[in-house]
Amino acid sequence: MQETIQVLLSLQELDTKIHSLKGELKRLPKEREKRRAAIDGRIVTRDELDGAIQQLALRVKEIDMDTTISRQRMRKLEKGMEETGDQSLVMAYQHELRSLKRDVSQAEEEGLDFVTQSDGFREKCDAITAEVEAEELVFLEFQENMKKEVVEAEAALAKLEAERAAKMKGDLDPNIVSVYERLLISREGIALANLDGRTCQCCWMEVPANLSVRIARGVDLVTCPSCDRILYSATYN
Ligand SMILES: [Zn+2]
Repeated sequence: MQETIQVLLSLQELDTKIHSLKGELKRLPKEREKRRAAIDGRIVTRDELDGAIQQLALRVKEIDMDTTISRQRMRKLEKGMEETGDQSLVMAYQHELRSLKRDVSQAEEEGLDFVTQSDGFREKCDAITAEVEAEELVFLEFQENMKKEVVEAEAALAKLEAERAAKMKGDLDPNIVSVYERLLISREGIALANLDGRTCQCCWMEVPANLSVRIARGVDLVTCPSCDRILYSATYN
């Protein structure tokens, strides 16, 4: 059994590296997506601000057109007042003039508010654009590094898997291999646990005394009753 444990330990050494490389190969594209989504979110915000600026510009244009029409009407009324001798008509004109002046002044105030709002949005928009440009550069650099890292990790992985395949050609008991491989999957890449005294060094539970005796005898495969991992004792190996 000691010999089997030795082979499993050397397999575990390879599998730990394989597990971490596979984790890295999964993590990198996720990290890339996360960074991309963060920048895209900022671009959406900027586009929304841009849309609001255009809406405000339209409103300002409408106000300009309305006030131009009102002013033309005001000039007409003023001229009418000069020309007519009818006092009641003059009073009606004056009334309309006052009302038009009030409308124009309100509209102009509103227009000014829109321009102020629009200037604020424009400032934010420009700030986001500058930030996004900087973030895009960082993203590009990350992406380039990532491509290199992926190529390196894939090459290292291929090498380790070839080493692993060579080890698997030995005369390992297929039943033990299947226990080991099942544990690799269910126990996040760590199938073996060192037993120090009576304490499993993976789950930190104490095993019954007879288990440490069985390990010392080295006749059969012993697994941890708590975490299921294959137990070995560094002392006996
Ligand atoms: Zn355990």
